[in-house]
Amino acid sequence: MARVLLIDGNPLLWRAAHSSPIEQVSKKILEYFFEVTSRFAPDDIVVCWDRGKSRWRCEVYTEYKAQRLQQKRESGIDLEALQEQLLFTQSYISALGVRQITVPGVEADDVLAWLAEYYSTIISGWNVVVATGDRDLWQLVGPDVKVYDHQKGLFVDQAAAEEHFGVGPELIPDLKALSGDSSDNLPGVRGVGPKTAVPLLEKYGGLGNLLDPENAKALKAKKTTARILPEGDFIAEMYRLVKIPSLHEGIHALDDKERKRLRAEVEAPLVRDDLRVQILSQRIGKSFPASEGLLPRCSTDLTGMVDYMEAYDAQNRFWGSLREVDRAIGDCNLCPLRSCCEEYGPTYSAGRLGAEIMIVGRNPGRQELENREPFYPEAPAGKRLDEFLSRVGVSREECWITNTCKCYSTNNRPPTYPELVACLPYLRAELDLVQPKLVIAFGNEAMSALTSYRSRVTKHSGEILENPVGLVGPVDAQVAISVHPSAALRSTQGQRDMEYAETMLKTFLEEANK
Ligand code: URA
Repeated sequence: MARVLLIDGNPLLWRAAHSSPIEQVSKKILEYFFEVTSRFAPDDIVVCWDRGKSRWRCEVYTEYKAQRLQQKRESGIDLEALQEQLLFTQSYISALGVRQITVPGVEADDVLAWLAEYYSTIISGWNVVVATGDRDLWQLVGPDVKVYDHQKGLFVDQAAAEEHFGVGPELIPDLKALSGDSSDNLPGVRGVGPKTAVPLLEKYGGLGNLLDPENAKALKAKKTTARILPEGDFIAEMYRLVKIPSLHEGIHALDDKERKRLRAEVEAPLVRDDLRVQILSQRIGKSFPASEGLLPRCSTDLTGMVDYMEAYDAQNRFWGSLREVDRAIGDCNLCPLRSCCEEYGPTYSAGRLGAEIMIVGRNPGRQELENREPFYPEAPAGKRLDEFLSRVGVSREECWITNTCKCYSTNNRPPTYPELVACLPYLRAELDLVQPKLVIAFGNEAMSALTSYRSRVTKHSGEILENPVGLVGPVDAQVAISVHPSAALRSTQGQRDMEYAETMLKTFLEEANK
């Protein structure tokens, strides 16, 4: 099997900056580079660098990695000189004919993940080693993907990842969403560390099942686990930050500019220039003889990676009727959620044409999936929705009922950000065709789709906004925000937040009908 080495550049940069005088940083990074290259003797190499924070993660959560800039300033490292060292290193690596990828606003983590997926499953037949000191990337580990932590000299396969985290690589995002990650400034649920979270994830198989209202009683029984109950929306939001999107989802996480830049980096010709390598080696006073025989010709065509992402963008997004929207949803394969729907398919919206009120939830649960009806009236969330509506003086029959994501997610896990974005054109079309006067957004996902708020629905429950602009674009209606009915079923705080939203909406509707 051929082997590709994917190198996460920034941890190398910071490790070198902390361990050597600033003028030696390039030399140090190159030493690591050749060390790791000679260790794995790869057939191909790609180095990825961060440039700024992740644009889309910062949109979801403004505090994301907020402490990093402060830490950099306080580190005492001359940041300008460090930048020069970085540019020098990048020129050296490019003179070696090795591909480097830097996309402003896109984290190297994401690009590394897409490359790992591309090599291991799309063009397949490759063994992937991701050289990184960042444990977020351990979630990528699988049969053909391993992580090498160069700082610790640690080679991480599935068993090693599980031994370290207590859960398999696929549940690392769930674990971090629950118990936080101080290096990314993600707080997690107060008082819930890995000791509490790991057995829960083992027992319930993931966040979604854990947060199912049916488990509320069991979680309430213990002081530590009871803390999880009011935090469901927040945990889902953290999950969206930590979970690295797949290649398939990547298109929805990137904007046009980012995708163009990624394509340019992937298509840039690579030229090995030995003379330039010699000159640059003289400048740092060290040559790396190993570079001659050791480095492969990095010639894998990676354009397929971006083609793969872009192939999904061509979908026609202008539908003239709700029936056409349903047809498009039925044919949709834009994100991986479709494969969670088994033989049932997506859960279509329900309601009356000309409805003045639109209800927007998150995504269908198991009972909604099986009964093919959003907020199925016999299921717990549907029953709580009916209670909400009767308290504000509205009947289900007056409403158009839909979800931000039309597909079920296995074990009810929270949809990722790219999955939410992939489904937004359908919600946009529903808004344009139904033209409701009032939209009720239940939960964080619907709130971010329909308003400029991106997080903490509990803070905004009860607010009613006029013509807000959300991820779907402008909404020409009043938008009432409430915590999700499932949150009300999980905890007394959730119940209180929902009751507050009921009171505010009831008063608003009474005023409007005067
Ligand atoms: N939760 C949702 O967000 N939507 C449903 O349809 C059911 C449960």
